Order: sequence, then C-alpha cells, then structure tokens
Amino acid sequence: MHYQFPVTKTTAPKGKPDPECLNFGATFTDHMFLMDYNVENGWHNGRIVPYGPLCLEPAAAVFHYAQEIFEGMKGYRSPDGRALLFRPDMNDRRAMNSCERICIPPLPEGLMTEAVKALVDLERDWIPEKEGTSLYIRPFIFATEPFIGVRASNEYLFVVILSPVGPYYAGGLAPTRIYVEDKYVRSVPGGTGEIKAGGNYAVGLRTEHEAHEKGYSQVLWLDGIERKYVEEIGTSNAFFVIDGEVITSPLTGSILPGITRDSVLTLLRKWGLKVSERKLSIQEVYDAFDQGKLEEVFASGTAAVISPVGELCWKDRKLSINGGNIGPLSQKLYDELTGIQLGKKEDPFGWVVEV
Ligand SMILES: *Cc1c(COP(=O)(O)O)cnc(C)c1O
Repeated sequence: MHYQFPVTKTTAPKGKPDPECLNFGATFTDHMFLMDYNVENGWHNGRIVPYGPLCLEPAAAVFHYAQEIFEGMKGYRSPDGRALLFRPDMNDRRAMNSCERICIPPLPEGLMTEAVKALVDLERDWIPEKEGTSLYIRPFIFATEPFIGVRASNEYLFVVILSPVGPYYAGGLAPTRIYVEDKYVRSVPGGTGEIKAGGNYAVGLRTEHEAHEKGYSQVLWLDGIERKYVEEIGTSNAFFVIDGEVITSPLTGSILPGITRDSVLTLLRKWGLKVSERKLSIQEVYDAFDQGKLEEVFASGTAAVISPVGELCWKDRKLSINGGNIGPLSQKLYDELTGIQLGKKEDPFGWVVEV
C-alpha cells in the first residue's frame, strides 16, 4: 500500500547544526509526522507539519498510566548522497508487537515505514555527512484520551520526529566501563521487557544514576528472577566472546529483540563463527576470565551500533577485558555494520532501503 500524506511546510526553517558538535538527540528537524486514532475513524489524518509543541489535555491518559511505545532507527547518507534506512521493516513489525502488548491499536501494515520514508524524504538535507553521524528517527505512539482510569485509551497519536546525531559516545568507538547490577531488575518474563515501551526506561533511571555515581557508563542487567544470567547492557543487547564462542542471551521474554542483535548474529553465522543464543551466568563470565578465556564483551544497538566493553564490575570485583582495548571482533562488526548502513559495503542480505 502506498500512502500520500499532505505536507504543511514550515515558514521558518531552522539552520542546520554544526556537524562537528552534534550531541545525541538534542536538535530536531523542521517537520514532524502526525496521525490520529479514534474509535470512529481508526487511524486517520496522517500528515506532515512543522515541528513544534503538541497540545494535550493534562488528563491525557499517557501522563498517568504510561500507555506509550516507541522505536529507534537511523537514516544514513551514502558517499554518493543517497538517503538510506537500515531494516525499517523490522522496526515496523516490532512496533506493532509493542502496540499489541499494551493494547494500542496497531497501525495498518507498513504504515510506520511509509511515514518514516515520507518524512525522511522531505528532510533529506538534514542527514549529516560527517563520519559517525546520522539522522536518528524516533517514531512513537501514545494515549491521548482525556480520561483518568486504568483502561486502554480510545484516542492515540502517532508521531515521527527526526534528530541529526553525532556518535553516541562523544569519543567514537571506545571501550565502556559497565557495572553489573545486582540490586535492581529491568524486567521479568511475562512483563514488558521485550517491547519498546516508555515505561520500561523510567525503571532503569535510578540504576543508571547510581552506576554513573560509581564511575560507570552503563549497567549490565541480570535476569529479574535469579539475578544470575546476563541479559542486556543499558538499552543494548549484550554479547560475550568466550574461548571462540560468541554468546548472547536467548529471547526469553525479558530481552528486547534488537535489530542490531539480529544483524550481528546473521553476520557472525555468515562468517562461520560459533554462535550461541543461550543462558550465560555472570559467574561463568568471571570463571572464563580467570581461565584466560574471556576474549571480548560488547553491546549492540541502533544508537551506538557496537559498543565494546573495557571493564566489568560485579560485587566489587573488577575485570579488565581485552586489556581495556577494543576487541578485534567488536571492531570488525562495527566496520561491517556501519559499512553496510552507509552503503559503502556490499549488502548481501538486502538490509538497506533507499528513500
Ligand atoms: C532498543 C533496545 C535495544 C537495541 O535494539 P536495536 O533494534 O538494536 O536498536 C536493546 N535493548 C533495549 C532494552 C532496547 O530498548
């Protein structure tokens, strides 16, 4: 299905930010996409309008019971100037799963992708060109009905906004220090950890704050029941290389099925490496370190793509991984994935979509 969305252009275009000092998620482009839902009309009135404040009633349901889901993806500029998206169909499908889990009426199939394409097409000059930069794309859907009561809303708004971004970590690809969280938990099987719902992230703020105070950039989440098995790193999926085997947590219901995670697994299998989606206890990670078999640890996610881990701290015992340096597999995955995303490397899986 091809959609045509009416466009109202801004009368006051903003200047583009200096590509040398792009922060992550701090500036937004000139336009945004909006679409409404109500019971009578379903999803309707998709449109592109100037970026600006939304008008909502204080009673809007999202403010009280957090009925909201979002996605995170990126647009890239290829060396020959094309605007590229990476596996947008996966974000679309995941968003519709997220909707279903918290009773938001799903968008018609493919509509999220079409909305993203229409907006990126209009704003293509905002995709920065400098190495490590991209256009972050944030689609989200939330409950707008003015009603205080715990039930699914009867009205929603679907919004897409765009933000030109620099590298997620200001210093580029550099090893991070990670605190293994054994007090708080992020999610449990049967909860909402496997969807991108805003409410999941408020839960992690206290943890992140405490980790920052101890000098760590992120936390490694353990499973919510036994606090034993490694699950995710901050808002990224976690990978461990032990004695030649690359291990990541299986999708148990408490893990977010990352698109970068899926892409990493696909590449590793293509390269013929031993790959396991299996439960891995933090004790096994520490034992592997003691035996000299812990080769690399890294996180995967849209924002930072691949983020190598240089240090882990669990119950006050610190491990320096790969001497605190970027591991060869982390570097290779980063180069391959960013190469495909930017249209510089061959795309054997048909992941890249031109706008
Ligand atoms: C978004 C997210 C990821 C990474 O998913 P990608 O699709 O690779 O960006 C991993 N874990 C959590 C909790 C997330 O929110």
